[in-house]
Amino acid sequence: MNKRRGLLVVFSGPSGSGKGTVLKEAMKMSDNLTVSVSVTTRAPRVGETDGVDYIFYSKEQFESLIQKDGFLEWACFCDNYYGTPKERIEALLSEGKDVILEIEVQGAMKIKETCPEAVLIFNMPPSSEELKKRLTGRKTDADDVIKKRLDTAVWEISQAEKYDYIIVNDRIERAAKSFLSVIEGEKCRPLRNRAVLEEYK
Ligand code: ADP
Ligand code: 5GP
Repeated sequence: MNKRRGLLVVFSGPSGSGKGTVLKEAMKMSDNLTVSVSVTTRAPRVGETDGVDYIFYSKEQFESLIQKDGFLEWACFCDNYYGTPKERIEALLSEGKDVILEIEVQGAMKIKETCPEAVLIFNMPPSSEELKKRLTGRKTDADDVIKKRLDTAVWEISQAEKYDYIIVNDRIERAAKSFLSVIEGEKCRPLRNRAVLEEYK
């Protein structure tokens, strides 16, 4: 039997809702996840490494990759470009790896359109007060950037119903377990098990 194809998983949610934290926890519990490394024009934060957290590009480099059709999706978020490089995604899925795209809502909707087999998960903060607390407490962004991100969060949350699943990130471990349960559940759907079904025909 052919190796089972991996799942393409989109993981979105307001900035500061804890996407990165939940993914880190989920990676500790599963060795089959690969998080795609995005390209961005925003400046690296303290502790971020080029090629690991993001591939950091100038605006010109980013626009040149758009021209070369090098992105699976890209979007402008709070004054910066972010995009998923096409390279390697298909190879990873064919190897059976579950590929996670941690991306914002506009990019997620693009994936929903172009890759209908993808599973879309929305990470919801437990409350708007908690979101503000987390975004401020992270101490990575200036006050004006935090304000912009919180304003954007209102629109992002209004789009959550377009996703397949919503996870409320109240406790990290619980949220990570829910994330992995969604992936396991999705793999049991008949449309992802055609090869198994064919064997009995
Ligand atoms: P995002 O990737 O969505 O922008 P982060 O993963 O950077 O968010 O999390 C933002 C902040 O919130 C971090 O300081 C992180 O430690 C904290 N955080 C994340 N999840 C939780 C949680 N369930 N409870 C309390 N704090 C959390
Ligand atoms: P941050 O600046 O906090 O790292 O990311 C800001 C937002 O951009 C987050 O919502 C994050 O998920 C999103 N993002 C990161 N990479 C990509 C990407 O490749 N494409 C899109 N569309 N959004 C991304």
